[in-house]
Amino acid sequence: MKDTVLHMLRYGTVAETKHFENAISSYDYLCINANNAAHVSYAISKFVIEKFFSKPEKGFIIDPLTYAFQDNINLLKSKSITSGEMKIKKSIEKLIDIYDYPINKVRKDTPIFTSDFSSDQILNEFCMRVLKFQYNIVYDSIKSNELDKYIEYVMSDEIFNLPQLHPKFLIAPYFYLDPQDPNYIEWLSINIKFIEVAYRQSKQLFNGIDIFGQIVINKNVLKNPGCIKKIIDAYKNINCKGFTIWVDDLIEQEATIDELNGFVNLLKGLRTKTIFNMYGGYFSVLLTHKDISLLNGVSHGMEYGESRKVYPVGGGIPVSKYYYLPIHQRLDFTKAFYLLKYVNAIDTSKENWGDPRTYYYGNICRCSQCKKILKSEMSNFVEFESKEFYEIKRNNQIQRRKKASSNTKENCLYHYLLCKKMEFYRVHSKPLDELLNDLNINYDIYSKYVELQDLEFNYLDKWVNILRKVIGDDKSC
Ligand SMILES: [Zn+2]
Repeated sequence: MKDTVLHMLRYGTVAETKHFENAISSYDYLCINANNAAHVSYAISKFVIEKFFSKPEKGFIIDPLTYAFQDNINLLKSKSITSGEMKIKKSIEKLIDIYDYPINKVRKDTPIFTSDFSSDQILNEFCMRVLKFQYNIVYDSIKSNELDKYIEYVMSDEIFNLPQLHPKFLIAPYFYLDPQDPNYIEWLSINIKFIEVAYRQSKQLFNGIDIFGQIVINKNVLKNPGCIKKIIDAYKNINCKGFTIWVDDLIEQEATIDELNGFVNLLKGLRTKTIFNMYGGYFSVLLTHKDISLLNGVSHGMEYGESRKVYPVGGGIPVSKYYYLPIHQRLDFTKAFYLLKYVNAIDTSKENWGDPRTYYYGNICRCSQCKKILKSEMSNFVEFESKEFYEIKRNNQIQRRKKASSNTKENCLYHYLLCKKMEFYRVHSKPLDELLNDLNINYDIYSKYVELQDLEFNYLDKWVNILRKVIGDDKSC
């Protein structure tokens, strides 16, 4: 694994594969949910072989999603189109076939309990199936689908050992930690046991590949120093390469100071290992800066994934929004339009609403997608707007919702991915002071805009204060 900061992208659906291909220069690793990996293993394996095989710095990881069977298991079902019955989704069925006991209890509408792992044998065997699935997913697909024609110049008995056909690291089975759950402490110790077992099994069975523990916590943990300490104490000395962290529904722009400080304190306590935030925005990217160095990488989804709720598992409808780079936030088209008008990037009294070369390219975004869309006319900004509609029935009423055409979707998506690439590049290459000053400057500009009441920019100021405190604390040590 390389030591530089990693930018990871969460794989969504097969339909998005062409975007993952087109945007390949904007990310390092793909994170794939295990149910997707099981369901469309051929498409994923083909992608890995075609796109990553000759690029050893790139690769994939599989999120085993073992927590999905722990609670709210009704969310694993969807309505069958033919019978109208609620049935376990096909991709989850595939995963149950692979993971087997005890999670196959959900077929009888029973979630798993902590007591299901009280036998070491059951725990060991379950761990092995979860790791083996991640380790072999691409290799197995090659064997069963004759994808080996793509790598025919490699001797067949050597194929299995090619690192590019395996994940960059394996994630041990894990469960959600919510201090409100009466079994919280038991789940915590089961998580720790799984990492220990995974570490041993990796040495014996999986070529010593790096093992990561995934720490998935309720947001309330961050507000409770005692809870943070408990988690740090449990995980910090364990044998593994690092941790992937996921705080349930932590939206960095909306989080309180206590939550963000709690997050920073959690990272500080675990810092002896490599740490990736599985769902993070620009605040997390800033935490990768060499002067702070609390994270080694950040992952996000294509359109809706800078934060994520733990339940429903892998759900959510992507919404096309415009990423407003100076304030590091995705906005509805209308809000973005008013902000651009406010800073005079758009002047509706001028022909074509003005020229993007006057303000937009210098101060908002100069990514290749924006240049392709806007050219020399700000009026082309409407290409970021969702203009189509779909209808949903709610409370016996039909509601109309905006829907993006495929062109709008692509415009928003590529601009977003290029903005993210730019953010990673800037955080990697600029002094921290300059980056924090940029946040201050943009806070000063935008916080004076008060016409849209539900838009607020205090988080920019909050982020700066928290990050300045992190560096200050380090200097005083
Ligand atoms: Zn752009």
